[in-house]
Amino acid sequence: MNESSTRLQPTDVLVAGAGITGLPHAAEADSRGLSVRIIDRDTWAVGASIRNFGHCCVSAQSGELLELATAAREGWLRHSALAKQPGASYLWRTSYLGTDAALHTNTHDAESPSGGPVTVHTSRGSLTASRVIVCVGHDLDYVHPDVAEPFEVNRCALAMALVRPVEPAAISRAVLTGTSMLRYPAFAETSAAAALRTELENSSPELLAIDANLMLTRRPDGTLLIGDSHHTETSLDPQLRPGQENLRDVRSRPVHFAER
Ligand SMILES: Cc1cc2nc3c(=O)[nH]c(=O)nc-3n(C[C@H](O)[C@H](O)[C@H](O)COP(=O)(O)OP(=O)(O)OC[C@H]3O[C@@H](n4cnc5c(N)ncnc54)[C@H](O)[C@@H]3O)c2cc1C
Repeated sequence: MNESSTRLQPTDVLVAGAGITGLPHAAEADSRGLSVRIIDRDTWAVGASIRNFGHCCVSAQSGELLELATAAREGWLRHSALAKQPGASYLWRTSYLGTDAALHTNTHDAESPSGGPVTVHTSRGSLTASRVIVCVGHDLDYVHPDVAEPFEVNRCALAMALVRPVEPAAISRAVLTGTSMLRYPAFAETSAAAALRTELENSSPELLAIDANLMLTRRPDGTLLIGDSHHTETSLDPQLRPGQENLRDVRSRPVHFAER
């Protein structure tokens, strides 16, 4: 146990996990005048939030997800103006191990049975907060298997390719293709989706076989991120799987773009 962490003052809110889910919770709590502490097991951001494509497909969602995405967009715009102001304190390299209290999935936080402060156990000692928000991503099943298992939380391996086009790419922003149209609910619910699936089954069955979402993102240095395939398991195979080579092989081929 690290003595310095046990001496830390209790906070109103403790957020476990500094990804794109944890940080907005911390920012929202901070903007309500609450004291906030964030803990993360890593020294810098290496989770899904830093590895991702950067696509914000708000209007591609439907139903409750569309409502959440629209509200989140407003929050991001609001917080982008505040991003440089000091607020929450960040205590890094502190793995969250759990609490003595029950975790309520609906409120996604830990509450003490008596309604009092919650003691959080970490690899560097214990911390106390009035409310604890656990945002550890897909590793939820490591710390709270009881919460993760009913929702069948799995790990998803995504293979992407980073390529340098032979000529500068004519695209300047994110490009989604037919496979994306089958993936995102707002598109997949359209009457044209069934015909599109039939077309892809005939023309590019290998993309459907690796559950590809063929998208392009141009990076500031001119390279293109092309992705991605999906493979889901509780524990991921560390070896490259047959089928994922399809996407990775793109790296060794010349890439050309035609404007239409
Ligand atoms: C390759 C890739 C591309 C993607 N592209 C897109 C996209 O274009 N658009 C989109 O909307 N979504 C995309 N996603 C999905 C999106 O990135 C994730 O849904 C999102 O980042 C999840 O955020 P998170 O905060 O829940 O998890 P994470 O970003 O993984 O953050 C979890 C944090 O918790 C920490 N942590 C874990 N366990 C513990 C512990 N026990 N104690 C302390 N800290 C812990 C981790 O270190 C990490 O910092 C993509 C994902 C990947 C992998």
